[in-house]
Amino acid sequence: MGKLDGKVAIITGGASGIGKEMVDIFRNEGADVIAADLDEEGLKLVGQWTNVEGIRLDISSDADWQEAARKINDQYGRIDILINNAGITSEKSAEETTVEDWELMMRINSYGPFAGIKHIAPYMVEQGKGAIVNISSYTAQIGLGFNSYSASKGAVRTISKSASTTYGKQGIRVNAVFPGVIETPMTKKLKESGGMLEQLEQATPLGRLGRPEDVANAVLFLASDDADYITGAELVIDGGFSAQ
Ligand code: NAP
Repeated sequence: MGKLDGKVAIITGGASGIGKEMVDIFRNEGADVIAADLDEEGLKLVGQWTNVEGIRLDISSDADWQEAARKINDQYGRIDILINNAGITSEKSAEETTVEDWELMMRINSYGPFAGIKHIAPYMVEQGKGAIVNISSYTAQIGLGFNSYSASKGAVRTISKSASTTYGKQGIRVNAVFPGVIETPMTKKLKESGGMLEQLEQATPLGRLGRPEDVANAVLFLASDDADYITGAELVIDGGFSAQ
């Protein structure tokens, strides 16, 4: 028996990196998974996996969310799990960041998860049950990186807490995870630019960078009924980096 048997899960950013790993783990635990992303090539690949449907959805678009929520609910008859995972990063320093850069970061990384909850939670409320997990970042918990990315992930932290208190009585659990540096296409560029990742790895108490499955397995727990009394929680998955 799988931990997610009979459940319908939406995973944004499901065509790459951490999201793709979650799609694989969730389907193997018995869920019907909708991988929502902008990466057409990645969507084609995960869309070939059994129990996975790939859909194009821009998380910063209300219209996309509205249409996807209605279609998924019509097709599957329910929506049990939402994983707000899709996001972008930026290597720009504060000095290099323009208002347009800031607005783009906030629109995708902060409004995206907010809009996801806004459009999916009503279906969960009707069912009287649902689980939402938001992917923030360790940079939202410590003073590392005076930049738009850390700020956008700080908003995700607050969105999670406030949604957990807003929807708790309606049976919806909302939790957040805070990954450290995880080896994915997002961090590949950092690796190629040299130096920084090695320094972070050396500074990590567990002595290695994270892998997508480190995050995916923790999210699986929070999304499953094993975490039935857990809401508003913050789980750091960073090999101990921010504990220092
Ligand atoms: P990734 O490999 O770059 O995957 C992110 C996916 O999100 C990509 O397929 C990307 O598509 C998609 N995406 C971007 N903007 C979107 C939008 N507006 N609507 C829908 N999909 C969109 O990144 P990852 O490393 O797996 O990161 C997943 C999440 O974990 C992100 O929220 C990230 O901030 C967070 N996180 C990552 C790390 C890390 O070290 N990797 C650490 C802490 C937190 P395109 O490629 O087409 O843009």
